[in-house]
Amino acid sequence: MSFEATLDFARRADAADLLRDFRQRFEMPRAPDGTELLYFGGHSLGPLPRAARAAVNDELDDWARLAVLGHEGARRPWIPYHENVTAGLQHLTGARASEVIAMNSLTVNIHMMLASFYRPEGTRTKVLIEAGAFSSDRHAVASQIAWHGLDPDRELLELAPEPGEHLIAQSAIERLLETSGSEIALVLWPGVQFRTGQAFDIGRITRAAHRAGCLVGFDLAHSIGNTPLQLHDDDVDFAVWCSYKYLNSGPGAIGGAFIHERHVNTRPRLAGWWGHEIATRFAMKPGFRAEAGAAGWAVSNPPVLATAPLIASLDLFQEARIERLRAKSVRLTGYLEFLLDRLAPDVQIISPRDPAARGCQLSFRIPAPGRGAKVFAWLCAHGVACDWREPDVIRAAPVPLYNSFEDVFRFAERLGEALRVLA
Ligand SMILES: *Cc1c(COP(=O)(O)O)cnc(C)c1O
Repeated sequence: MSFEATLDFARRADAADLLRDFRQRFEMPRAPDGTELLYFGGHSLGPLPRAARAAVNDELDDWARLAVLGHEGARRPWIPYHENVTAGLQHLTGARASEVIAMNSLTVNIHMMLASFYRPEGTRTKVLIEAGAFSSDRHAVASQIAWHGLDPDRELLELAPEPGEHLIAQSAIERLLETSGSEIALVLWPGVQFRTGQAFDIGRITRAAHRAGCLVGFDLAHSIGNTPLQLHDDDVDFAVWCSYKYLNSGPGAIGGAFIHERHVNTRPRLAGWWGHEIATRFAMKPGFRAEAGAAGWAVSNPPVLATAPLIASLDLFQEARIERLRAKSVRLTGYLEFLLDRLAPDVQIISPRDPAARGCQLSFRIPAPGRGAKVFAWLCAHGVACDWREPDVIRAAPVPLYNSFEDVFRFAERLGEALRVLA
């Protein structure tokens, strides 16, 4: 990739970008003075797709007009409402239609999937996660272990990077599975790690886990809508995600899950009426008969107002296509990396340097003690939205659906200025 550290180059790259008009389909966040922010926070909460307003308003109008009759009579009937997102989720996850379901929220879905897939037995009792996992994932796993009457200090394995490193080598995961796999019941791994932005090879991890006789699930909070996925062909047992990060579906949006079709009739589950087969659901009889596929894992009727924005957002992804977004993303993040190396040489990028081993996010630190926090505060006060992770990491995500090469140039320029002002 050849880049230049000039505004002119960035503008030419934008002019040549076939996806550039998708930015107009979003309401981009603004500073209190009304100017548009340089928004690099899409890894945390995506901006509002304009069509999401209409989608939510349609549901409010149908609620007002129909109330209970909306279950069958709304323009998008509420009973099968989750079906509106099946095609979009299939496109992003590489699943069969019967393997995906929008439901609950992410941590709840971790618990639901662990109820089905974490079945400690005999000497195979441990769960493997990455050291420094997202707190909620760790809380969920540790509490599940304890709920089975086992000791999380013994049963929770956390694989750390080599001393002094930030990233976990793919080969280290494989080695651990080879040596200790017989004690591991379940591997729960991130598709993209939230702090470092490291993207893992989901197929490779799945094969290594299966060779060792373990089940394997992925938390795709930072993967879905960021990197293309092929969960069915990769033979992943299950996966979970939220929809408010790269899927731009708003705070508290509905989450989702993938369950490989070979498990759908065999795994135990925590059941509710919305997973009961539709034909007899409303007979309200005691015996549970699961709806086919992942839909049989639903427990409650879906939060329509928290799902409507996802319908609008997935339409954008189906129009843009995840493969084309990824191709732009590799260049956009490559450009940010190129500019940071030139305009902000004091920062240390901790995300992988190999584009294939990262998503769109770059994480970086400023080694001098205390300086990173000051630089971050300066950026916030100067129209940049990115974020800070203790103890010293700044995360910035150029998102191909709405960020431009000019955004990336201005971000790097402003970061360079912050470093000069706060030298
Ligand atoms: C964002 C995120 C969460 C958030 O969980 P919620 O249940 O949606 O609040 C959990 N885990 C990971 C890895 C995340 O990135």
